[in-house]
Amino acid sequence: MNAQDPVDIIEVAAPLPRRSRQARVAWGGQVLTVGGDAPVRVQSMTNTDTVDAIGTAIQVKQLAQAGSELVRITVNTPEAAAAVPYVREQLDRMGVLVPLVGDFHYNGHRLLTDFPAMAQALSKYRINPGNVGKGDKHDRQFAMMVEAAVKYDKVVRIGVNWGSLDQELLAGLMDENARRARPWDVKQVMYQALVQSALGSAEVARERGLNPDNIIISCKVSGVQDLISVYRALARRCDYALHLGLTEAGMATKGTVASATALGVLLQEGIGDTIRVSLTPQPGEARTQEVVVALEILQSLGLRSFNPSVTACPGCGRTTSTTFQELAKQIDDFLRAQMPVWKARYPGVETLKVAVMGCIVNGPGESKHADIGISLPGTGEAPAAPVFIDGEKALTLRGEGIAQEFHKLVEAYIERRFGGVAASPH
Ligand code: SF4
Repeated sequence: MNAQDPVDIIEVAAPLPRRSRQARVAWGGQVLTVGGDAPVRVQSMTNTDTVDAIGTAIQVKQLAQAGSELVRITVNTPEAAAAVPYVREQLDRMGVLVPLVGDFHYNGHRLLTDFPAMAQALSKYRINPGNVGKGDKHDRQFAMMVEAAVKYDKVVRIGVNWGSLDQELLAGLMDENARRARPWDVKQVMYQALVQSALGSAEVARERGLNPDNIIISCKVSGVQDLISVYRALARRCDYALHLGLTEAGMATKGTVASATALGVLLQEGIGDTIRVSLTPQPGEARTQEVVVALEILQSLGLRSFNPSVTACPGCGRTTSTTFQELAKQIDDFLRAQMPVWKARYPGVETLKVAVMGCIVNGPGESKHADIGISLPGTGEAPAAPVFIDGEKALTLRGEGIAQEFHKLVEAYIERRFGGVAASPH
């Protein structure tokens, strides 16, 4: 490029707008919109035995408090179905405003028919067309579940899964492929089967009277590139709200990274109206970790703000102390722990940006970009930590109590900036 070329303006990246129908998930006089212009919703699922209504309600509450906006529970037996209204009742008694989604496989048609109180207490049904029976039975049993959704005016997620794909449909598509002059790759036939199973089932549901706005689609697979391929196809072929998630994402780092990568690409393209991160909890790890990751994905993309963000440097040879790592973690833990209360007391606090940096190289610069930031002293620097508030150096902390003093400064900043008007509780 020479000096005469026009300046090439660099565009600001942002997720593309989504275009989908909007579902209304309702319960007890409350409504949660999914799709359309609603924010991308966060979902999770319990791993308790639903028969244990109290234990299930407690875990639903924990997931909801962590930020899950819909919580799915297993409804696999008559006993579990009978427990569902009690789970709802417990949640209402605890003031937990979250809709419950029933997860059905194999016997959902019977349970939804035999337990009307359960069918009513749930706000949404998840139906896996691959696990509804075979042949004529499939059609009859699928119809029974859709009829329950129509009768009780419930939203349905038609949730196809790579691991339980309709084998008759797949076999038919494989035969068709074998007859092609130039057969498709086996993977492409699988993609087609997933999409066709979901959209074909949606068509049948509509014929059975289900409002198309009340249909949400998912086609979960466990490979990142597979998920991207399948959801791009779904988004091209339908306008239903889409639920995104990598199934069996795995544990810890692997599951987190794979989910963030796949969901990040799709959400940036405007694909996806609700998400779930299917992490396998590590021994002793809280079930709520999957919600924490889901919130971080949406917040990282700039789609939603849930918690104040803490920017911390990774540390390097310029600092031998771990003070800044410890301080960053303390601040992060503190902000997260306070959020359930602060959400109501300090409207907008979720947009707060805090920086905790390890030395003078990037410390002052990064701290100035934050609402409040601290630059700790690196190796060989004077033992002083300048604090920046709203881009200006405000004061310098010294001595042993830097962490506690910074903690108090953050609290005071929040009170001053966000303490004006209390938000309504919902
Ligand atoms: S801010 Fe300083 S300590 Fe932190 S990574 Fe950069 S150079 Fe290293």
